Amino acid sequence: MHKLVMQSAIRKIHFCYGHRVMNHESKCSSLHGHNGVIWVHVTPIKELDSLGRVIDFSVVKSAIGGWVLDHWDHTMIIFKEDTKTIELLNLAPSYKTIFVLDKNPTAENMANFLLWEVCPKLLKGKGIVVHKIVFWETENCYVEESLDPTLIEVLELYA
Ligand SMILES: [Zn+2]
Repeated sequence: MHKLVMQSAIRKIHFCYGHRVMNHESKCSSLHGHNGVIWVHVTPIKELDSLGRVIDFSVVKSAIGGWVLDHWDHTMIIFKEDTKTIELLNLAPSYKTIFVLDKNPTAENMANFLLWEVCPKLLKGKGIVVHKIVFWETENCYVEESLDPTLIEVLELYA
């Protein structure tokens, strides 16, 4: 059933990453980096908690922010079919391992991965759904990906 009013709590997450967009028509096919900003939008499945919150902001910070810090911050995010780049980066000395994504690491595909793979795994069972990811690749360029938090398929992911 659709809600008449939707409340969201939004947590901002900063991180630094490198990537390249495989087969990009111009400069984005070179390895380069960004200061990314992720805005995680959370809505309650039923209602606010007993204190009147969607969720405590610190829960989103530690779950999603922690995952981003561990897996995406200060490393390279590379498409799994970009085998030459993966080989090259595996030869380079590095504190962190590279992150291999199933799709080209565009802001759109990274937002999609957070929304459908990362957030449900880390925030299931908390009475909330992450219904939107806004991903700023730069101050001037950003993408949004959202889902309908009332869909049964989505509720099952968070059950
Ligand atoms: Zn880029």
